Amino acid sequence: MELTVEKIKAIEEKWQERWEKARLYESDPDERKKCFVTFPFPYMSGSLHVGAGYTAGRLDTYARFMRMRGYNVLYPFAWHWTGVTIAGIAERIKRGDEKTIQVLRRKENIDDETLEKFKDPVFIAKFFMERAKEAVKRYGLGIDWRREFHTTSYNEGFSKFVQWQYFKLKERGYIRLGTHPVVWCPSCKSPTGDHDRLAGENVSPEEFTLIKFKLTDDEIYLPAGTFRPETIFGVTNIWINPEVEYVIAEVDEEKWIVSREAALKLQDQLHKVKILDRVKGSEVIGKYVKDGITGRESIILPATFVDPKIATGIVYSVPAHAPLDWLALRDLRDNEEYLRKFGLNKEVIKKIEPISIIKCEGYGEFPAIEIVNKMKIASQEDKRAEEATQIIYKEEFHTGIMKRNCGKYSGKPVNIAKEDIIKEMEERKLAIKMLDLPQPVICRCGTRCHVKIMENQYLLKYSDKDWKEKAHKALSRMKIFPEEARDLFRSYIDNYRDWAFTRTFGLGTSLPWAPQFLIETLSDSTIYMAYYTISKFVNEGKIEPSQLEPEVLDYILLGEGNVKEISRDKRIERNLLDEMRNEFEYWYPVDVRISGKDLIANHLTFYIFHHTAIFPERHWPRGISVNGFVQIEGEAMHKSKGIYVTLMEAIEKFGADTTRLTLLLAADGMDDPNWRDENARETLTALSNVVEQILRIWEEKKVDKKRMIDKWLDSETKRIIKSITDSLEGFEIRKAATEALFGFRKAFKHYQRRVKTMNKEIVEKSVERWIKALSPFVPHLAEELWKRTGHREFVATAKWPLEEMKDSDIKILEEEEYLQQVVEDCKEILKLLRGGRKVIIYTASEWKWKVYLELLEGKEIGEILSEIKPEQKDEVGKFASHMKRKIMRSKEGLRRRRMRTGILDEYAILTDNGEYIEEELQIPVEIYREEDPERYDPQDKAREAEPYRPTIFVEQKEGAQR
Ligand SMILES: [Zn+2]
Repeated sequence: MELTVEKIKAIEEKWQERWEKARLYESDPDERKKCFVTFPFPYMSGSLHVGAGYTAGRLDTYARFMRMRGYNVLYPFAWHWTGVTIAGIAERIKRGDEKTIQVLRRKENIDDETLEKFKDPVFIAKFFMERAKEAVKRYGLGIDWRREFHTTSYNEGFSKFVQWQYFKLKERGYIRLGTHPVVWCPSCKSPTGDHDRLAGENVSPEEFTLIKFKLTDDEIYLPAGTFRPETIFGVTNIWINPEVEYVIAEVDEEKWIVSREAALKLQDQLHKVKILDRVKGSEVIGKYVKDGITGRESIILPATFVDPKIATGIVYSVPAHAPLDWLALRDLRDNEEYLRKFGLNKEVIKKIEPISIIKCEGYGEFPAIEIVNKMKIASQEDKRAEEATQIIYKEEFHTGIMKRNCGKYSGKPVNIAKEDIIKEMEERKLAIKMLDLPQPVICRCGTRCHVKIMENQYLLKYSDKDWKEKAHKALSRMKIFPEEARDLFRSYIDNYRDWAFTRTFGLGTSLPWAPQFLIETLSDSTIYMAYYTISKFVNEGKIEPSQLEPEVLDYILLGEGNVKEISRDKRIERNLLDEMRNEFEYWYPVDVRISGKDLIANHLTFYIFHHTAIFPERHWPRGISVNGFVQIEGEAMHKSKGIYVTLMEAIEKFGADTTRLTLLLAADGMDDPNWRDENARETLTALSNVVEQILRIWEEKKVDKKRMIDKWLDSETKRIIKSITDSLEGFEIRKAATEALFGFRKAFKHYQRRVKTMNKEIVEKSVERWIKALSPFVPHLAEELWKRTGHREFVATAKWPLEEMKDSDIKILEEEEYLQQVVEDCKEILKLLRGGRKVIIYTASEWKWKVYLELLEGKEIGEILSEIKPEQKDEVGKFASHMKRKIMRSKEGLRRRRMRTGILDEYAILTDNGEYIEEELQIPVEIYREEDPERYDPQDKAREAEPYRPTIFVEQKEGAQR
């Protein structure tokens, strides 16, 4: 059967219908062991892309595998509406933002009529939810749709659940009120989380020190922002951007000159700010300032690299240690026209010399100058100047020592001096701290953000030591796939600070005791997996959403309260309450939660924290699997730029099974898979070949005769199943998929090469194994094959064909491998000699085998020799030490396998397959045992034979041998 995309799609739709009719994926508590798996509810601001298909497909593969292993598997699905993103899209549509509209038209095929409705965020969420559900269904994930729900106040049941959670957190002391720096959008008037940003994901506030420089002729300060306040001893001048309009402002009762942006930031960081006047950067150039630490006077000079959006828009210059400062100074010296423009005296500028203040291993007096020369950086506009700055900063911070000209800080390591200087300057009011973003952060609405210190913020106390300890405890008991991700979780748990979890803009659930606030997008998604056990009852109309009051949820989720009283007070049947309690108790905790690795930093760490805060230990999460991000044709996926492939697009083009398998084969662990159309086409061909091969094997005539090679096929397919099982248990999905597709394919090809007629019983058993093995990876095609090979039940619920590998299985695999190795070696030699008249093979004698196995078991040579007759000691000793060296070089796995195999009857294997060997070599073959006195051995070659390595001798022509 040649598979076309059209054929695949028809097969898929047929089986999806049948699964649904049979309610195959609707799971309720029963006597079986359970396996509860979850995928983070996708955010409904656009169509699902192949990245979601990759992660959700990996989980579905695991879920299908566990189902076949006899587990009662639950894989539910829900939709995330919370946050400012959807609302942000609506805002941009209202404003007529072209970029947003283009992406929606082009990538999402939204027509103008629908676009008009996109001014309503709820419409957007519903619209994409319908689309996404269609895609997930068409993708063939085994979902229990009875539990479906979406978030926000537009779903009363879910909101009640979230509010219950926050009551609990407050009650248990995990929430506090305080000031807190947030990344703030001045236009939305709301904090901007990672998911709310067009640019600047993962950028967080950093602390600048603003060192106050006072004008020598006025009571006005020019505060210069720096990450390196210890370099104050090397200051030669101040830089200001001549083109920028600054302001003179009263800041906490002092007069300051700062950029307009800085004035706004200072205001947002709890300073009293009053703007008095405007002043252009060029107006203060040439004036002198003085700092309070060195008391030196420095001149104010122009520099274009100074960015008014960073810190105060004023910096001080340390040309010995800051590459940009050196470049700006050099540029200025050479630019006479520029100097004239600002009325600067050429001689004064020429006299400015870098002041070296830090001794640093591997550098001379002026590290900044050295690196500028080494990297051949041309000017302050050169982008690599930033890179050079970072290099010097790191080197000096970690290994630098303050030189003698640094007052009381002389001789101190830079990293210590830095802290001490900050302390001194703050105490003496010579400097203050300011928070700023080291890189631009752009809100979804398109506005540049800054840091605001918020007062009276509700914070989750992630800095709490006890809470961190609990989270670590939970992590230590969890399975993490891949294991290397565990350290990332550890460091996030350690480093998390308190988290402001409310917003005033967007969609969400309001904070129950302060309803003017909404709970933000990451914070309403931490324990919602528990709600899947409740949503089933809500969706079936057994309980009203309004009835999910705190007392009711206390009972269902924590077993707290008097069920009789709750039943009476809340008018809910006691049976129903108990059924809901049982449902939760049966499914919880989540066995595996899967996600892209980007969510380790936030969602998954929150997930661990909140479970330990709300639930008893037995309900803490059991496992997390993380994977890489899908790239598109080698490029990073970028939704707002329109670089993505929707899941539906891929399915339309290649079918669900092809899409799924292409993704599964693309990567494992935390590596980033790459989606390429070409790979999908290749996968389609491979799948088509496999289907064809299976059906052909199935239909071909078979016999009952059982030969060694028939037993080999049985053992080999058993081995492949074992290997797939091991890989899936370790969440190595790609490895498992490769075996399921190509491992079996290779085994059958080899088998068919070895036999003229296939054995009926073994081939049928092995084909069954193959189809079952394919089922988790290509579930639709596996069902089709299962039916076509005469089965009535679904393969999706068939028993996983794992069988124990017996010693006899290992042995038979080893024997066939041995035979193939000998044939290969013969071919090599014949090729080298350009043919011959006949091949003669000598197998190692029995004593050699005995010695070999003793050595494998670890026996010493001396011990072996003590049991040998004196006249044989020499020969045996030589052989034993030769073999010992070989064993030492071989791999542990090989040694173990050979030990388990024991003596291989090489002679019998070769003579039983004499005909096959001759056919392969196309030349007569004779086989002898080394110790056979009757053997034909004209060149005395037999004695060179070793276990697993017989001597191969090619006779060239009669009489003349080589
Ligand atoms: Zn905004």
